[in-house]
Amino acid sequence: MADAFKARYSSGAQIRTGKIRSAAACAAAAVIVSRRLKVRSQKCTARKILLEFQEACYTPLARLRQVVDAMAVEMHAGLVSEGGSKLKMLPTYIDRLPDGHERGLYYAVDLGGTNFRVLRVQLGGLEGRVIKQEYEEVAIPPELMLGTSEQLFDFIAKELVSFVAREGQDFRLHAGQNREIGFTFSFPVKQTAVNSGTLLQWTKGFKVNDAVGEDVVAALQRGIERRGYKMRIAALVNDTVGTLAGGRYWNNDVMIGVILGTGTNACYVERAEAVSKWAGDIPKSGEMVINMEWGNFWSSHLPRTYVDESLDNESLNPGEYGFEKMISGMYLGDCVRRVLVRMAQEACIFGTPVPHKLLEAFSLMTPDMSKMHHDDSSDLKVVAEVLKRVYGIQNTTVGIRKIVVAVCDTVCQRGARLAAAGIVGILKKIGRDGSAANGVIKRNTFEQSDMNGFHDEVPVHYTSGGRTVVAMDGGLYEHYTKFRNYMQEAVVELLGEGSKNVVIELSKDGSGIGAALLAASHAEYVIS
Ligand code: ADP
Ligand code: MG
Repeated sequence: MADAFKARYSSGAQIRTGKIRSAAACAAAAVIVSRRLKVRSQKCTARKILLEFQEACYTPLARLRQVVDAMAVEMHAGLVSEGGSKLKMLPTYIDRLPDGHERGLYYAVDLGGTNFRVLRVQLGGLEGRVIKQEYEEVAIPPELMLGTSEQLFDFIAKELVSFVAREGQDFRLHAGQNREIGFTFSFPVKQTAVNSGTLLQWTKGFKVNDAVGEDVVAALQRGIERRGYKMRIAALVNDTVGTLAGGRYWNNDVMIGVILGTGTNACYVERAEAVSKWAGDIPKSGEMVINMEWGNFWSSHLPRTYVDESLDNESLNPGEYGFEKMISGMYLGDCVRRVLVRMAQEACIFGTPVPHKLLEAFSLMTPDMSKMHHDDSSDLKVVAEVLKRVYGIQNTTVGIRKIVVAVCDTVCQRGARLAAAGIVGILKKIGRDGSAANGVIKRNTFEQSDMNGFHDEVPVHYTSGGRTVVAMDGGLYEHYTKFRNYMQEAVVELLGEGSKNVVIELSKDGSGIGAALLAASHAEYVIS
């Protein structure tokens, strides 16, 4: 009886367990389906955000051409009068560039956006060229970027004198020669001589308020003297100018210097007569290097999005340096992050709540963006690794990772194409974009409405049909291969056949050695 009961009971239980099991299976299936639907709808929303962003960032050839023309127009306006354009077009007082004849021992200090470098070089004239050079690099302690002027220049002086103290036997000063320094200072400065100038404003995350308006050469000179050393700062050099000089030392065709690093900027060799706002004498060479401060370039043709607006509002210099904020290494990663934040908030692509660190400005650095962008593994494991390491985000699907890569691609491509348009704008301004007939002197057509015909009056040697070399420096250009390729592609798109005569050459650490070369060509003690 008991057995029969047991049997009946157990068979009933089996039936019930079976029902429960199938109900559980149904529920699990429902959860899976609903999760899949949720993931699909998240991906759908994320894709929509991506598409909208891609559209807003789109830089077709026609738009790039407008940026080229706007750049050339603004360059002209900035040369005519002080404040004539957002492009400051600062005369650098550099009217002769190194040509290989320089001899002796020279130093350079290079304050960029991230790193600080000290360098020494022994020059041996045309036959010896660069006999020996040494340099050291230190990261700038972040607290100094927001501290006082004395602290900052004291740090630079300390690093410089300790480097000088380690000068080896291979480096030799001439009898009676002082150590002369080229000071590369990569922030906007209004120069008053080749070796003095006041800081106009900070960029790239620096905010040392009491230094604004100060003569940065005098500040460094004081720092050196406080440490009991005697050295002369022979040239104050913007990093673009250093890069230009470093390139020109080896190659006469170098006309333009560009930096694509933490920040971005360009300089070029202009006819002194075209600098209408220049009140000084026309230099013997007839030329003047102009520091454009192109990071501050602005034009309504630039593709501005919600990302650029919020980034600008939260930056240390709102309303300023809009071009730089679309192009340079300090900002590209943050542009990507802002799109990801939107996707995380509106499409929950990284789950709920939104990872806290993702909301932190500048938490995604451009080198990490570049790592994700270059990930060519089939399951995008580098993307997964970066998201996990930086934000603690786990378990992303390959589909979501692909969207992240597409965001990186959009931001990178836009920045690179705009940088290319900037370079072509300069080429156009100096008549080297291949659109002028070779050797024909053109009148300035600035007043004409047809901007495609825009050129300044161009001396024959500027349109000789020869090569024009752009000396380029900066970690973004050097390390971000896809950025570099997109930029090159856009230059070719813009110049067509003419691009064969334009060469962009990496002039690695050119800004440091260029400053030392300029110290040599502007030295107090000239060795013949
Ligand atoms: P600075 O501009 O401070 O003088 P660099 O020219 O060395 O210094 O540029 C450093 C910048 O280059 C970094 O702030 C970063 O934005 C960018 N960068 C460095 N490495 C990479 C990389 N692997 N991928 C993309 N960008 C990079
Ligand atoms: Mg630099």
